[in-house]
Amino acid sequence: MATTTASAVESVPIFSGGEWTEVSSNRAGDVFNPSTGRVIGRVPFCSAKQTSEVVEAAAKALPAWSETPVVERARLMFRFRALLEQHFEELAALVTREHGKTLAEARAEVNRGIEVVEYACGIPSLIAGDILPNIAADVDAEAVRHPVGVCVGITPYNFPFMVPLWMYPIAITCGNTFVLKPSEKVPLSSVRVGELLEEAGVPDGVFNVVHGDRECVDALLDHPKVAAISFVGSTAVAKYIYERGTAAGKRVQSAGGAKNHLIIMPDAEMDQTVKALAASAYGCAGQRCMAGSVAVAVGKAGDAVVEGLVDVASRMRVGPSDGNENIDMGPVIRAEHRDRVANYLDIAQEDGATVALDGRREFDSDGFLIGPSVVDRVRTTMRVWKEEIFGPVLSVVRASDLDEALAVGERCEYGNGAAIFTRSGYAARQFKRHFNAGMIGINVGVPAPMAWFPFTGWNRSFFGDLHIQGNESIQFYTRQKVTLTRWPKSDDSHLDPVWREDRK
Ligand code: NAD
Repeated sequence: MATTTASAVESVPIFSGGEWTEVSSNRAGDVFNPSTGRVIGRVPFCSAKQTSEVVEAAAKALPAWSETPVVERARLMFRFRALLEQHFEELAALVTREHGKTLAEARAEVNRGIEVVEYACGIPSLIAGDILPNIAADVDAEAVRHPVGVCVGITPYNFPFMVPLWMYPIAITCGNTFVLKPSEKVPLSSVRVGELLEEAGVPDGVFNVVHGDRECVDALLDHPKVAAISFVGSTAVAKYIYERGTAAGKRVQSAGGAKNHLIIMPDAEMDQTVKALAASAYGCAGQRCMAGSVAVAVGKAGDAVVEGLVDVASRMRVGPSDGNENIDMGPVIRAEHRDRVANYLDIAQEDGATVALDGRREFDSDGFLIGPSVVDRVRTTMRVWKEEIFGPVLSVVRASDLDEALAVGERCEYGNGAAIFTRSGYAARQFKRHFNAGMIGINVGVPAPMAWFPFTGWNRSFFGDLHIQGNESIQFYTRQKVTLTRWPKSDDSHLDPVWREDRK
């Protein structure tokens, strides 16, 4: 179980070329425990020069690592996985401490992250090439996968453990070296997991951690020795990363924000559906890119959904999560973010929506707490429908039929996840085929793909071609080389003369 030491303010180190170092930097940021509101760490904002040195360390390690047999690289992942399992509770407590999600949610996150390491353990099979013998007369063709080089990961605050693991286990096992720039709001989990990867035996410079804000990110985007960039974060930054990274000639996969719609048909099993809606909207205090943000209630489902949601949400136990398992929802990441989320309730009312449940209240804690809210009678012209709130606010749009519900999705600029709750196979099939989003749930409120499948955001939820995780990540972190081979029969000049005699 997590403990909070009031006086302990950690100085967060970088990891470069196999060395953990506390860098001195003109600029730094505070790391908070959102449950208490106290500062628990100081994270340096590395300069462009400091960042460049970390990339150089990764570049130096590349030739030897890319020549290391893939089965040995995979064995590193088996050892890493064992250590992650061994430290499971410690890691979950750390996620709760720096992020604020409940321990149950943190454990789920750690499980999802470990699954990516399990996927990476299978890379020797997944990375194998293709051969077509005799593609032309006496010519054999083969395609094999090579690493791309130094890869970079830039990650958001909402999954301090899992999102970095979406990237580097796969990149490294494919033979690349890696520089991780975790969110400056939650850098502690990445440091601890890096220590475990070091304990598992990762060679110096194969995995590195640098900290910072835009100056550090720009240095990574522009560095000539960086070959590929994986980004997860908000849409505005995702677009910027994609444009600047690709302009510098790098391959980029860049996942952005979301506004996920949950459609409730009148035939849905209402008790289970309302529980699933609440779990989707209020889990991790609404700070998930796959969180349900808009419930589209069709026909008579409208009143039942709103009444059920208000009932379930008003009974949720909201409080500090660090060291306390008896809560259903923890704080949001920062005081300013809580105030931003709260402000959306005023905006909704000004725009003509009805706040059916208002999560704003006094809490007996200095943590960044806000309760769950339900906003009814939302229209697609309103800011609460258009903008990503990223907090525990569920908007309800009323639609008269499935076609109208599908049209709501068509107007949404994002396209991460969407779910339908129904007993009708026809409605489910229409929704699956026609809803304008890349990850679909049918009676599943958070249809987040697990490690074996790509995270297929659409529209302004993703910039790039190859998504993170699954088979697309193997393609992203490798480049193919195709070889055509012909061995003429007459060519025996390389043979020893004795053997040439034998062949006559
Ligand atoms: P963010 O965009 O503010 O930050 C993400 C990363 O970008 C951080 O490492 C940060 O240091 C860096 N960054 C921030 N501003 C920058 C700038 N101007 N220039 C260069 N780098 C910058 O996102 P966040 O608030 O940490 O995370 C929440 C967002 O992430 C939400 O929008 C959420 O939907 C999204 N998200 C998306 C997915 C997905 O798979 N699509 C998954 C998780 C989170």
